[in-house]
Amino acid sequence: MSVVKGLKCVNCGKEHSAGLIYNCQKCGDILSVEYDYEQLLRINTKAIFRRKQGLWKYKEFLPITDYSKVVSLDEGGTSLHKCNKLARRMGIEELYLKDETRNPTGSFKDRPASVAVSKALEFNAKTLVIASTGNAAASAAAYAAKAGTKCVVIIPERVPTSKISQILTYGALVVKVKGAFSNAYELARNASQKYGWCNVTTVMMSNPYQVEGDKTVSYEICEQMRWKVPDWIAIPIGAGPLLVGVWKGFVEFRKLGLIEKLPSMIGVQVESCEPIVKAFRDGKSIVEPWPLEPKTVAGGVADPLRGYTQDGSLTLKVIRESNGLAASVSDQEVLEAVMDLGRNEGVLAEPTGAVAVAGVKKLIEEGKIPRDEVVVCLVTGHGLKDMGPVANLFKDPPTIEPDVEALKTCLARALRGRTLSEGHFNKGGPWRH
Ligand SMILES: [Zn+2]
Repeated sequence: MSVVKGLKCVNCGKEHSAGLIYNCQKCGDILSVEYDYEQLLRINTKAIFRRKQGLWKYKEFLPITDYSKVVSLDEGGTSLHKCNKLARRMGIEELYLKDETRNPTGSFKDRPASVAVSKALEFNAKTLVIASTGNAAASAAAYAAKAGTKCVVIIPERVPTSKISQILTYGALVVKVKGAFSNAYELARNASQKYGWCNVTTVMMSNPYQVEGDKTVSYEICEQMRWKVPDWIAIPIGAGPLLVGVWKGFVEFRKLGLIEKLPSMIGVQVESCEPIVKAFRDGKSIVEPWPLEPKTVAGGVADPLRGYTQDGSLTLKVIRESNGLAASVSDQEVLEAVMDLGRNEGVLAEPTGAVAVAGVKKLIEEGKIPRDEVVVCLVTGHGLKDMGPVANLFKDPPTIEPDVEALKTCLARALRGRTLSEGHFNKGGPWRH
């Protein structure tokens, strides 16, 4: 049974009923879903934790009232890898990856999409609209396909072709819009208002329900770490709804007495688009829109926040409240993190998905994360979604005759003098530029 009380404005505190509204009707700021925690305290949580893994095992903590409308592709329940090799390489004792590449469409966005599309069906929405840099649109399109609902996708010009193909395969109507993500955001908002389409954009200013799906990441981490909360959770952020959602999940579990402490949240951006990091560094509480057009290999976090700086300011507030950190990384550091994940842990991340790992590496080197503390990095999207920037790192492998001597000669050259038995492919690796 759902225990949703309503929606509350994060700025002025005005309460609203849990209907199809997107922003505070008094001040226009972000709305957050409120639950009846007294009622949640009476729920038998042991029975919940015995259920099959996945997002909907936590259905009592999600804002759905009609479970017959739930649209699921078995999202959530993703692996938490303990990464000894990567930890050693980064000079830290304990490092974990929450592997969100395991979700049905290959990114964490399936969590907010499952909740947002289910909620849209509760509101009898016939058409969904979403602005996205790729992954959220793929998720919305997949869930809309499963639900039999129309989905209009608005993406910025520079989304990788492989992501567009994925969205089109799920049958969505896709339109590219000139400029950065902010233009897509604005157009989706206007179209939603004009045509009555349900806006499922994963910006907190666009839809108050979708971010609730992100909370389940922290519920799972608590269970997977046997209720020992890590010291740090690192997350790639554009506007940062995932970071806000994950924080809310931990806060709720502490409210229910399931955990004793809260982690510190780390938000990582890219140097070419770092509005939240800049505000954090400058000691500001309001995030300003980013004036430049971002150019980065990690397009999923290239978010100038024009038109929805409230999202950035809320993310910044959470980072501060949690005694957390904000850092930005270069494209080179992002690509190194992609390689580190692949070569040390067998995890294939898209560049955006590796941003948190790159940030943590930097923060450890700078002495901002103590080496004996426990860190969980979220790997948010699968490498196969965007192989372009990584493919550019490699030369084409050599073609040889089907002959063992030719194979030996070729590999010996690649291993630069090491013999085959002692050689390994991890450092530099074969066929790298
Ligand atoms: Zn308000």
